[in-house]
Amino acid sequence: MIKIHREFVGGNICVKSIHGDVISLENELRDSTEWFYWAFCVENAEGRELTFNMQKNRLGYFGPAVSHDLKKWHWLDSSDGDSFTYRFGPDEKKVYFAHNMLYHPDHFLDFLREYGIKSTELCKSRKGRSVPCITLGEGQKSIILTARHHACESTGSYVLEGVLRELIDTPIENTVILAVPFVDYDGVVDGDQGKGRAPHDHNRDYTEDPIYPEVNAIIKYADRYGCHLGFDFHSPWHKGGENDNIFIVRKRIVKQDRYERFSDILQKEISRTDIVYEKKNDHPPMTGWNQEPSPNFGYTMNLREECDLAFALETAYFGTENNKISTDMLIRLGKCFAKAIKNYIEF
Ligand SMILES: [Zn+2]
Repeated sequence: MIKIHREFVGGNICVKSIHGDVISLENELRDSTEWFYWAFCVENAEGRELTFNMQKNRLGYFGPAVSHDLKKWHWLDSSDGDSFTYRFGPDEKKVYFAHNMLYHPDHFLDFLREYGIKSTELCKSRKGRSVPCITLGEGQKSIILTARHHACESTGSYVLEGVLRELIDTPIENTVILAVPFVDYDGVVDGDQGKGRAPHDHNRDYTEDPIYPEVNAIIKYADRYGCHLGFDFHSPWHKGGENDNIFIVRKRIVKQDRYERFSDILQKEISRTDIVYEKKNDHPPMTGWNQEPSPNFGYTMNLREECDLAFALETAYFGTENNKISTDMLIRLGKCFAKAIKNYIEF
């Protein structure tokens, strides 16, 4: 019998109805307001052709992300409005479908193993899980790298991995790096939206009295080692407009010359590749949803005396036909970003 479920890391789905080969699904908001993340697994559907009806605005430009092992992902490259149809091959016993290309915590551990690096524990999560982090290098300067302040935003994890690959291969002198790949670790494992979580999400928790142990640990770390540069990797909203781009969320108006310099360097670095990043797409400060003060990572780190620059990089879930997101592209983007960090420091 066909089984449709969310019993895996990152799973999030509610089966509303099954009529023959047509299945209607809804994503679970849990403690978030309207958002679009979902991920489910289909088992025992070998040889069948099934149509999945999603709610409005739940599918990207290239249909669902598809995987057989939660590690390798590709786009189905086919959808029909808010539905998609999948023909299961005779040996396809288990297939995962998701809004975006998930980044499993084991993927991060595989990457560390490749380099012989051990992860350490940042803290215990609210649900008692051990939240992984790594530190690299030694020195007087401190760079803090984070992803998944919003649990569902997996493009940020791939970009972070790319940044780390480059910084491990060619380290920055006199600098210690803290990387926290899953700030909302419980949310990543449980498949929560994370964004807009009640009473507030992890990226609105940089207050005097944080409610999330991960945020508390990052602040304590910054108090001890400083945060000369801070980069926080996100995915934007679902799709459309600026959400189809790669862009920097520019924060403090007094630091605009520094943002401009970083964006110039990043644009130049990326122009050597087939990836599209244009600094004109950066989100300006005090515009639209980007208001100050806001107790988020970028704003709060920027207030620190030693902090030269901190911000969030937003990377689209899907991109566009000429700038299409893939896991490989995201890692290459991260490598370019790391080179930009090095050039920013050196010149
Ligand atoms: Zn975010």
